[in-house]
Amino acid sequence: MRSLRIRKTFLGLTLCSLLLGGMLFSFFAWDYVSHRIEFQELQRLRIEASDQRQNMQRLVLDVERLQQELASLAMTEARIRQLANLEDDGRLIPVAMGGQPDEDNFSLNEIQQQINALQIDIELRRQAQQDVRNLLNDQISISRSTPKGWPTRGWLSSYFGKRKSPFTGRTVMHEGLDIAANTGTPVVAPADGIVARVTYSSTYGNKVVIDHGYGYQTLYAHNSRILVKVGQRVTRGERIAQVGNTGVSTGPHLHYEVHLNGVPIDPRAFL
Ligand SMILES: [Zn+2]
Repeated sequence: MRSLRIRKTFLGLTLCSLLLGGMLFSFFAWDYVSHRIEFQELQRLRIEASDQRQNMQRLVLDVERLQQELASLAMTEARIRQLANLEDDGRLIPVAMGGQPDEDNFSLNEIQQQINALQIDIELRRQAQQDVRNLLNDQISISRSTPKGWPTRGWLSSYFGKRKSPFTGRTVMHEGLDIAANTGTPVVAPADGIVARVTYSSTYGNKVVIDHGYGYQTLYAHNSRILVKVGQRVTRGERIAQVGNTGVSTGPHLHYEVHLNGVPIDPRAFL
C-alpha cells in the first residue's frame, strides 16, 4: 500500500513537471519565434530607412545641381543683356540660392520648399528670357528700318539746309541732299520698308516715298524710272528707281530726303 502511494505521488509529480515543462517550453518557443519575427521586421525597416535616406540625399544633390544650373543660366542671360545693351530688369538674381538643406540634416518639407523655390525661379527665368527675345527682335527690327548708307552712287552736289534757289534766286529751305549721278544709276532703299507713294509732280518729277516704320520716311525725286509699286515691301539694298532729270532739275541727280515723325532731317546723319 505504502509503495503504491509513493508511486502514485511520484507519478503525479512527474506528470505535473512534464506539464509545467511543456508549458514553459511552449512559452519560450513562442517568445523566441515572435522575437525572431520582430527582429527580421526591424532589419527590413532599417534597410528601408537607409534606402530612403540615400534617396533623399540624392534628391538634395539634384536640387543643388538644378540651383547651380539656374544660376549659370542667369549669368548667361546677364551677359546677353550686357552685349545687347538691354536694361537689367532686376530679375537676374536667382531666388532659390539661399538656405540649402544640410545633406545630413534635412526634412522632406525642406526639400519641398527648395523645389517650390526652384519652380518660381524657372518661371521668372522663362519670362525674363522672353523679354530679352522680344527686346532683341525690336532692336533688329528698328535697325533694319533705320536708313543707312547712300541710296545711290554719286557725289553730293547740294546739302540740306537754307540755300539760294538756282531758279528764283530766293533763299529757300532745301529739305534733302542732292546726289549727282548719271541718268540710269540705280537708286536703292537704305532700309526695309513699304512703298507709300509713287507720284509724278512738276517739281519733283518721278517721286517715290518709302515708309520704314518707327517714324522714318524717305523720299527720292527726279528719277528717270521707278521700279516699285505702292504697297510693295522693300528691303535694304533693293533697287527702287533710276537716277534721272525729271521735274525741276538742272541735271541728272537724286534728291534724297529723310523724315522723322514728319519732319525733314539732314540725311547726311544716315549716310
Ligand atoms: Zn534737291
